[in-house]
Amino acid sequence: MSLAVAVSLLLVPAAAGHPATPIVDAAKGVLAPVPILVAPRTDFVGTNGRPAAPALRAWARDARVPLPAGTIRVRTRGGCPWHLRDAGGNRRMSSAPCSIPPNGLYVPPGTPRTLFLHELGHIFDYQMPAATRDAFRRQFKLPRPWRTYGMGFGRLPASPRPLAHEQFADAYMACALDPRRPPNGTTDRGYRASPRRHRAVCDLIDRAGDALDATRPLTTFGRGG
Ligand SMILES: [Zn+2]
Repeated sequence: MSLAVAVSLLLVPAAAGHPATPIVDAAKGVLAPVPILVAPRTDFVGTNGRPAAPALRAWARDARVPLPAGTIRVRTRGGCPWHLRDAGGNRRMSSAPCSIPPNGLYVPPGTPRTLFLHELGHIFDYQMPAATRDAFRRQFKLPRPWRTYGMGFGRLPASPRPLAHEQFADAYMACALDPRRPPNGTTDRGYRASPRRHRAVCDLIDRAGDALDATRPLTTFGRGG
């Protein structure tokens, strides 16, 4: 029996009014496994199963936000395989970069870094707790739903106002570029923030990074989410 274990089995003599307390606490530094803090591992893998293009991985590595957890599957050709429906209910195939729930990215050649980070923001969104969406929505007084289209849930929104999830993806992109300085003006998908609010949003994303779950059911933010 090691000294540490022997010590852990001793009891502190009961003081007046206090029950006997094992001195395990005192010995914790010796007995408890040392916690090892490891960021969730993120891999970017192409359709051939090999690591995705070094440029994309460098963009992700340099992002100043937590990355989505797990394996991100990246395809670079063939169009966005996520079928959207237009207002008439017709399917359309997009040639623009997109995220493919739960962990895919379509990133055709020529995709700018900003758009790559935006799409990565969508993957992050799929994994983050619902409370983060609520907090983001509160920050900007955004109405429900978070998302109304995609993943077979419905149609493209009739409203020209970008939806909350698109604003969030742009916020993620902006934080990835610089968590201390917001973009000038309004981004393409409607993110606009003062420096103070931008910092708060980036902090929110930082905290969400500690609670990512790559297996979180996507339906939790579908219709009306
Ligand atoms: Zn988007």
